[in-house]
Amino acid sequence: MTNSDAKATLKADHAALVEELTRLLGDGHVSTDPVELELCSVDFSELRLATAAVVARPGSVDDVRGIIAIAEKRGAPLVPRGASMSYTLGTIPQRDGSIVVDMRRMNRILDINLDDLTVTVETGVTWADLRAVLADCAYEIPFHGPFSGSRATVGGGLGNWAVGWGKGDITTYLLGVEVALPDGRLLATGALATDPQHPALTCYGPDLTRLFINDAGSLGIKTKACFRLERKAGGSAYAAWGFADENQALALMSEVGRLGVATDCFVFGPYHHRVFYGRPRPPANELKALLRTIARNSSGRLNAARNLFDLLRGGSLGFLARWPWSVQTIVDGVNQRAADAAMDTLRSAARRLGGKPIPPSLVIAMRAMPFVPIEELIVGIDGECSFPSNCTVSLSQGMALKRALDAFFAERADFMRAHGLTATRLYLTTANAFGVEPIIYWHDRMNPLRYSVLGEDRRRRFGNQPGNAIAREAALALRREMVTDVFAPFRPTHVQVGKYYPYRASRHNPDCWSMLEDIKNAVDPKRLMNPGALGLE
Ligand SMILES: Cc1cc2nc3c(=O)[nH]c(=O)nc-3n(C[C@H](O)[C@H](O)[C@H](O)COP(=O)(O)OP(=O)(O)OC[C@H]3O[C@@H](n4cnc5c(N)ncnc54)[C@H](O)[C@@H]3O)c2cc1C
Repeated sequence: MTNSDAKATLKADHAALVEELTRLLGDGHVSTDPVELELCSVDFSELRLATAAVVARPGSVDDVRGIIAIAEKRGAPLVPRGASMSYTLGTIPQRDGSIVVDMRRMNRILDINLDDLTVTVETGVTWADLRAVLADCAYEIPFHGPFSGSRATVGGGLGNWAVGWGKGDITTYLLGVEVALPDGRLLATGALATDPQHPALTCYGPDLTRLFINDAGSLGIKTKACFRLERKAGGSAYAAWGFADENQALALMSEVGRLGVATDCFVFGPYHHRVFYGRPRPPANELKALLRTIARNSSGRLNAARNLFDLLRGGSLGFLARWPWSVQTIVDGVNQRAADAAMDTLRSAARRLGGKPIPPSLVIAMRAMPFVPIEELIVGIDGECSFPSNCTVSLSQGMALKRALDAFFAERADFMRAHGLTATRLYLTTANAFGVEPIIYWHDRMNPLRYSVLGEDRRRRFGNQPGNAIAREAALALRREMVTDVFAPFRPTHVQVGKYYPYRASRHNPDCWSMLEDIKNAVDPKRLMNPGALGLE
C-alpha cells in the first residue's frame, strides 16, 4: 500500500468510527472539533503524547458499553476522562486514533438512602455538586474530596486515589463501584456485588473494589460508585499556628499525624501565604454566603459566634505576611466539647514545638468553601505556569525527604535562576503519612487546559503570554529529575500515577507487576483501555 493509500484508509476508518459513535450517542455528544481535540491532548504536565481522534460523551451505562464495543470492533484505544485536573498524563492519549471518553454527562446522584446510610452516584459528578446535594442533610461522606473538587469528578478521584479534605481518603467510605470492563462485562464490586439494592458492608470475599482504585483508568470505565454516609460532626474546632522555621512546622504536622485526632492538617509556606492574603476582597454576596455557611456548619449559636469572630479577626489574612510557615488544623467531634478537648491535645503539642497561635480564619473559610479556584494553584501569582508533583512517605521518613528536597533545589539554584524557574511546597498529613507537593513555576504561554480554567481577570492579564519552550523544557527536566533522584529512593506512593510516575519500577516484588499484567490481560486482552496508564502498554 502506498503512503497516500494508507492515509485514505485511515481517514475512512476515522470517519466510520465517528459515524458509529454518533449513531450511538447522538450528534451533540461526539466531537471532532480540533479545538476540543487539542484540549483533550494536553494536561497540566505540559508533556505531549498523541492527539485525540474523537471525544465521546456517554450519558448512560449503556452508552459506555456501546462505546467500548465500537472501540473493540475498530481497535481504537479508549481514554477515560473526568475533568482532567491531573498532571500525570492519565487523560492524555498515548496512541493515535484514540477515543477520549468524557464522563461528565454522567453526573447524576442516583440514590441517597438515609435508612441504610449510603449514597450512590454516577462517576462524572463533581465533588462540589455532591457536597451541594448533601448540604442540608444530617449525613455526609466524611471524606470531602480533593482541593480540585470544584471541577474534579468522583471517577477521576477513584482513578487517582484522591486524598484531600476530610477524614481518610476516597477509599475510606467506599462501598463498591460499577465498572464497564474493556472485554464487555459490567462488573459490580464490594457491597454493590452483594446486594445492589441495599449495599452495606464490603467484607465478604476478596475486595475487588480496590483493584480499580488508582488504576488510572487502565482496567475499565467506572460508571457508578457507592459510599457510606456518616452523621455530620456535632462540633468542629479550628486552630492555626505560625512558625518562622519550616522544620518546626513540619515537626508539628508529623506530631498531629501521630496524635491521630485531626480531620485536616495542612502546612502552607510563604508563597501560598501571599496567594491567600493577596486575594481581592470577595464581593458582598460571596462574603455573606461564606458567613452563612460557617454559621450553618457551626454547632449552636455560641460556637457560630466564635467561628465568625475568629474568621473576622483575621481580616483579609494580612497577619500571614508575618509568618513564613503556618500549620492549619481542623478537629471534628461527636459534639463541640469532644472537638475542643481533642484540639487541646494539638494545642499542647504546638506549644511544645514552638508554634505561635494565629487566627484560624483561613482554615475556617476553607472548610466552608473547600474547593479552591483551580486557577489559583495552577497559575502563579504573576501568571506563571506550574505543575505540582505529589509524594507521600511514612511519618518517620518525612523530614529526610524534606532535607533531600532542600539539597536538590539548592544544588540547582543557578540552573533555576538561569531559566527563570521558581519552586514552592505544600505539605499535608493523611493518617500515618507525610505528604509533600513541590510545585515548579515558569513563565510561558497558557496551554488550552490552563486557559480553560482561568477566570476573566486572569485571562485578560495572562491569557496571551508568549511561549517559552526553553524554560518549559527546563521545568520538565527539573521535575523528572526530582521524581527519579529525590522521590524514588524513598519508595514513596503517588496518589495519581497516570502515565508519569514510575509505578512498574517501584514494584520491588516482581510478582506484583506480573499479577497486574495477568489481570490486565484478563479484562483487556486487546490492550485498548488507556494504553500507557500505570506503565501497562
Ligand atoms: C488545583 C488542584 C488541586 C488538586 N488537589 C488535589 C487534592 O487535594 N488531592 C488529590 O488527591 N488530588 C488533587 N489534585 C489532582 C486531581 O485534581 C485529583 O486527583 C482529582 O481527583 C482528579 O479528578 P478528575 O475528574 O479531574 O480526573 P481526571 O484527571 O480526568 O482523571 C484521573 C484519572 O482517572 C481516570 N478516570 C477518570 N474518570 C474515570 C472513570 N469514570 N472511569 C475510569 N477511569 C477514570 C483517567 O483516565 C485518569 O487516569 C489537584 C489538582 C489541581 C489542579
